[in-house]
Amino acid sequence: MSSIAEAIALAAPSFTGELLRPTDHAYDDRRRVHNGLVDKRPAAIASCHGVADIVDAVQLARTLGLEVSVRGGGHNVAGRATIDQGLMIDLSPMKGVFSAATVVRSIKARQRFGRSRRLVRR
Ligand SMILES: Cc1cc2nc3c(=O)[nH]c(=O)nc-3n(C[C@H](O)[C@H](O)[C@H](O)COP(=O)(O)OP(=O)(O)OC[C@H]3O[C@@H](n4cnc5c(N)ncnc54)[C@H](O)[C@@H]3O)c2cc1C
Repeated sequence: MSSIAEAIALAAPSFTGELLRPTDHAYDDRRRVHNGLVDKRPAAIASCHGVADIVDAVQLARTLGLEVSVRGGGHNVAGRATIDQGLMIDLSPMKGVFSAATVVRSIKARQRFGRSRRLVRR
C-alpha cells in the first residue's frame, strides 16, 4: 500500500477536481456535513468535477485500501456522507444528472485498460 501523499500525487495529473488532505486550507470546510454533531475526519477528500474524477477517486481508495463515503448534499441526518480515516468522495461540485451505469462502465473500462497495460509491460 502506498502512502496517501504518493497516491494523490499519482492520481493528480488526470484529476480535474480537488484532492484535499487534512493540512489543506479547504479541508475543514469540505468535510463538514449538515448535522453539526457529526465531526469526522476523512484521510482525504476527493472533490469530483465529473465521472472521470469519480473513477480516479475509486481507484485512489483501492490503491490505499481506504473505505469510502459518498457526499452529495451532505444532508443525510446520520452524517453518512463522511467517514473517519477513509476517502470522502465529494460529488457536491457536480450539478448535472449522471447515470450510475455510466460511472460503473467507466470504472470497468479503466480496470480493463490497466490490466492490458500491465500485460503489455511484461
Ligand atoms: C433539514 C433537513 C431537511 C430535509 N428535508 C427533506 C425533505 O423535505 N424531503 C426528503 O425527502 N428528505 C429530506 N431530508 C433528508 C435528506 O434530503 C436525505 O437524507 C437525502 O438523502 C440527503 O441527500 P444528500 O445528497 O445530501 O446525502 P449526503 O448526506 O451527501 O449522503 C450521501 C448518501 O450516500 C450514502 N453513502 C455514503 N457512503 C456510501 C457508501 N460507501 N456506499 C453506499 N452509500 C453511501 C449515504 O448513506 C447517504 O445516503 C432532509 C434532511 C435535513 C437535514
